[in-house]
Amino acid sequence: MIPTPDLVREKNVEVISTVSPASNVNDLHKQLDTFSVQIIFPTNMEKNVNAITCRNMLLNLLPRFLKTVAYDGPVVGEKTFPPSHFMKIKNGQISDPSITIIFGNVEHDSIKNVLYVGSVGWSIYVSNKKACEWKPFPINGLSALYAAGIIAGEIFKYMLPDEFTDKITHFEYDLVTHGNASQPVCEPSIPDVINFDNVAILGCGAIGQAFCAAVRMTSKLTGSLMLIDNDVIDESNEQRYVFSFMENRNMPKVQHLASILSISNPTLVINGSIARYEDVMSQSHIKFNEIITLVDNIKTRINAQAALPKILWNAWTDTSKSILRYGAGRHMLAGPYQCVACSYYSNDSISNQIELDSLMTGFTNEEIKVKTSGNYLTTKNDIDHINNHNKIIRQELYQHVGKPFSSLLHGLCGVYSRSMGESHATTPAPHTSLLAGIFLASQFVLRQLPLSDSSKLMDSVADFNALGIPNSACITKSQRRKSCFCNDVIYQQVYNKIWRNHI
Ligand SMILES: [Zn+2]
Repeated sequence: MIPTPDLVREKNVEVISTVSPASNVNDLHKQLDTFSVQIIFPTNMEKNVNAITCRNMLLNLLPRFLKTVAYDGPVVGEKTFPPSHFMKIKNGQISDPSITIIFGNVEHDSIKNVLYVGSVGWSIYVSNKKACEWKPFPINGLSALYAAGIIAGEIFKYMLPDEFTDKITHFEYDLVTHGNASQPVCEPSIPDVINFDNVAILGCGAIGQAFCAAVRMTSKLTGSLMLIDNDVIDESNEQRYVFSFMENRNMPKVQHLASILSISNPTLVINGSIARYEDVMSQSHIKFNEIITLVDNIKTRINAQAALPKILWNAWTDTSKSILRYGAGRHMLAGPYQCVACSYYSNDSISNQIELDSLMTGFTNEEIKVKTSGNYLTTKNDIDHINNHNKIIRQELYQHVGKPFSSLLHGLCGVYSRSMGESHATTPAPHTSLLAGIFLASQFVLRQLPLSDSSKLMDSVADFNALGIPNSACITKSQRRKSCFCNDVIYQQVYNKIWRNHI
């Protein structure tokens, strides 16, 4: 009998062989099969909520890429994971683990490759030298989960050649000042409630699940949240989706995430749409204050930006030759910093306004020039042409017959059909999606809190090298690209008109 291929294992081999400068697939299989991790969680940590959160995420993530994960500590609650996942965690100690992760203070003279881990407030602690001695409060799920992602990243680095990565020896870092203040950073206090003010999440995959795991772990959620994704969970997702297990296969991603978020958050109004974003936006008149784009295609990210939300959040991972990165963005059409389109195009390949209008309407650049100059008024045929081009009948566009053609563009048609050559993106490493989602969640939460002058918020883009070590230079302020459509005066006027009283 031919054995069924292990899709999750193959996904991990794909990631490592893509990133690694020299890799033999057979060697990688062997490496993933023989590498072992021991987690030691002493009983005196049993009431440390930060440590429990971090431990549970490590026990969630590590078996998604390693065959041998052993846990020595108090029993983990039976509701933490479904049976298919518990089966993957060995109880007790194993001999000669490749890496040992220690919570609290445990003697280790005889143990090789130790990583001590801890988190308090907004700070995380990882060291191969000595145990974390921070007090267990304040509780903060964001830093606890980020610490788990950083540890998983350190383990991942062991799969790659030594000279190719920058490993942690001693690391104290926080999500508010990004290492610029003395550690640990405990202010601001975590809020009791996090509000979703008419927010949409596009993409309920790996980053979407990580984002939701992080905000849900932090505070109670309230407000209005729309989840949009047309896909179902499949086996290969189990390589990195923190809420996806064998028991969840074939469930719509939207439905699965909505059911998790609704637990303990009775005042959060969740709407779900099992559809493509473009179809949702084309068939309704919804206007979201904030859109969080966590999809794996650029087209939808740019379409979301063109719909002119007050704020567009973005998070991504990048896996390619010698590159393993993750990052996030916060974009507004007002102000000096990049929109999403700016960040996805190099200077010379960026679309200008007419090219975008052409993609949106199906008219050629020349036709657009003629129709937007002089006194040209929109005809029914124009609307028919646009609807045929987008393969969606949008009745509301017919209201523009007899009005200037330019009024049809720039935001009103904000959702446009765009076909770009999109290649299959390499699967992300399990921890990069997690780190991207948690980082984005930390910024989303921090924006709702009073902050001190030493805080460093993301104003445009944050870009982390997952083969290195996070630092404050990863948070950049990127200026707009001059040729991008976000500089177009009419787009800006429409944006300001919509959000004038809300910015
Ligand atoms: Zn732009």
